[in-house]
Amino acid sequence: MLFNKYQELKGNIRVMCRVRPVLDPTEGDEAKILFPDLKTSTQIDITGPEEKSSLGNVSRRVMPFEFDRVFDPSVYNEEVFGEISQLVQSALDGFNVCIFCYGQTGSGKTFTMSSDDGMIPRATHMIYETITQLKEKSWSYTMEGSFVEVYNEELNDLLTSPSEGKKKLEIRHDDSRKQTTVLHCKSVALDSADKVATMLREAQNNRSVAATKANERSSRSHSVFILKLVGENSATGERCEGTLNLVDLAGSERLKHSGAEGDRMKETQNINKSLACLGDVIEALGRGSGHVPYRNSKLTHLLQYSLGGNSKTLMFVMVSPMEAHLKETITSLRFATKVH
Ligand code: ADP
Ligand code: MG
Repeated sequence: MLFNKYQELKGNIRVMCRVRPVLDPTEGDEAKILFPDLKTSTQIDITGPEEKSSLGNVSRRVMPFEFDRVFDPSVYNEEVFGEISQLVQSALDGFNVCIFCYGQTGSGKTFTMSSDDGMIPRATHMIYETITQLKEKSWSYTMEGSFVEVYNEELNDLLTSPSEGKKKLEIRHDDSRKQTTVLHCKSVALDSADKVATMLREAQNNRSVAATKANERSSRSHSVFILKLVGENSATGERCEGTLNLVDLAGSERLKHSGAEGDRMKETQNINKSLACLGDVIEALGRGSGHVPYRNSKLTHLLQYSLGGNSKTLMFVMVSPMEAHLKETITSLRFATKVH
């Protein structure tokens, strides 16, 4: 219901904010918390840093930010999934859907998207259940999953281990069908819940093998889980083809160019650039602009047919509740406002 209301009001782009809980014991009891009065609603107020007026008075500005939905730290993944289940249904109905998690490293992106009880396993589970029900109405579906990583403006297959010898992936758009394929990319028929768990583990392993500092690498690359859903109705001959893309973005923390050299500098520039490009694309779509700059980054190029047109987009902006992360949180909320 909620979804349809948004549809009428705001078109196909929605932005929601999730505040993660204080992490015990690392963040401790005396931790300073940014949002003491946060209630699950649609607004988040943040008290900015101290500012000095010309007369020397020190004050702090309260800034309100509005979203389609704000999740306070007490909200479980189950409730978050409740907000996206209509989008998962849309993918089964033949739409292309993109769901992103944006935020600084440590804000809860992976927890929300790809943990054992995150959106990926929940979405696939819901799809199995729905597909089973739809069999009674003569629909049969196939569900294929791929998992890729965009790192340094290059696409890597997370389901192929380095020892198998990686082929360079290439993006192919079919403009008439408005569908995208990634050449040389493995895809797995996900016909049981076990296969999803195996796939997630495999992706995790391949990532670890590829990088010595796996966590660091995962915070500096975008991972994209691509589910292709094809349904056919044996009674009516109807056919539908939808895609669900679940994207765990690289950490949005402001990365400084100074101090970094060579490869690290290039990596930093690429992260900043691709997140900015994503923002530009979503903003252009929200404005109804004729020109949408998909080609400016690998990620938006890959997702071209799942962003805009009659596809549906949801951006989760993840923030930390800690005073220590105030600056990054304000930057994230501003980014989210820009695309909203
Ligand atoms: P990111 O992927 O954005 O770097 P993570 O998802 O790894 O961040 O989250 C950082 C830490 O916070 C992890 O230990 C994670 O389990 C924890 N965490 C994040 N969000 C929540 C939440 N909503 N509830 C409980 N723990 C969370
Ligand atoms: Mg992560």
